[in-house]
Amino acid sequence: MKRTTGQDRSITSKWRAATRAVRAGTWRSEQGETSEALFVNSGFSYDSAEQVAARFQGEEPGPVYSRFQNPTTAMLEERIAMIEGAEACRTQASGMAAMTSALLCQLSAGDHIVAGRAAFGSCRWIVDNLLPRFGIEKTIVDARDNAAWEAAIRPNTKVFFFETPANPTMDIVDLEFVCGLAKSKGITTVVDNAFATGALQRPIEFGADVVAYSATKLMEGQGRVLLGAICGTAEFINDVLMPFQRNTGPIAAPFNAWVVLKGLETLPLRAKAQSASAMEVARFLEGRGVQMLHPGLESHPQHAIAARQMDAFGNIFSFNLKDRAEAFAMLNAFELIDISNNIGDAKSLACHPASTTHNNMGPEGRAEAGVGEGMIRMNVGLEDVQDLIDDLDRGLRAIGR
Ligand SMILES: *Cc1c(COP(=O)(O)O)cnc(C)c1O
Repeated sequence: MKRTTGQDRSITSKWRAATRAVRAGTWRSEQGETSEALFVNSGFSYDSAEQVAARFQGEEPGPVYSRFQNPTTAMLEERIAMIEGAEACRTQASGMAAMTSALLCQLSAGDHIVAGRAAFGSCRWIVDNLLPRFGIEKTIVDARDNAAWEAAIRPNTKVFFFETPANPTMDIVDLEFVCGLAKSKGITTVVDNAFATGALQRPIEFGADVVAYSATKLMEGQGRVLLGAICGTAEFINDVLMPFQRNTGPIAAPFNAWVVLKGLETLPLRAKAQSASAMEVARFLEGRGVQMLHPGLESHPQHAIAARQMDAFGNIFSFNLKDRAEAFAMLNAFELIDISNNIGDAKSLACHPASTTHNNMGPEGRAEAGVGEGMIRMNVGLEDVQDLIDDLDRGLRAIGR
């Protein structure tokens, strides 16, 4: 392998965000290919018995087995770390693999975790159902409420786990306060940054310890593959996560890593363009009297906090209609916007969380998480914004608004 400047932190750390997204992590083979190569191999061969011994003993850098790291996933990991401003990153098979690993690699029986109330359904399932099976205690808090985080701390609290903006209520967590509180108590914060991505929000700048991703969403950007990522200090990644990852094997497939690697090249552009369209669409809906949940709107109760910690407000928002019947009627009236529970795509998508992504939680769980029966969650894509507004207008007229 030829090292390029993309692997040299003394150079890449001087690059600005868009340059990092295109070039950080690039590692060229002897062929000198410009686009990153896709390495489809599980094993590696060595020049000598001494060489493989040195690699296994950590005395010489280089790959040993694709469950540990593959050259393509290694390029992606370096690029994500550089976008995030993290010392290190490891990728995994899906966002949920990343969330599970980020928690299980550091929690043991007898530990306590505090987690945000509004969250991706599977994240809540891990905290509510999986962790207790291994003797890990939990407290669920309204993550918007700084005092609630403080009140939930116990002597055995090990981890704070939350997302911001949160799915699908668009609750905002005050990163500086909550991460600072955790730091002062020796608690590790794990932030699910899937909605904003490192292009729009870098929790590490506000004191977060671990940032975990579903890269399936805006990072990938075109709805093709699943992938997860975990960013943190080199010490956390090498000493806490890697023993877990190497031995349990939730690793990303090289092809999926390659797709996301190429997706990252356009992430800053897409994030900016889709955020701008989402603001325009949200203003249109608000102008028609729809109750909006969008952190970029002045009507969002935590707009000021979001403005402080995000570069733009992202391409996802939710809004509340009267009831399930109205939500279904509006979704069914769309000609352009797809009915889909996915997000982050270049195609605009909309779904009804209460009957899909948050169906498992049951009515009480949904009420606690703030997921109403009339809620629609929207992913704004890259289509012409006027076509989206026309389609939303069609939807609103179908429900007599
Ligand atoms: C989609 C999503 C996940 C899960 O990611 P997968 O890649 O689908 O496994 C976790 N957290 C958030 C906030 C998500 O949007």
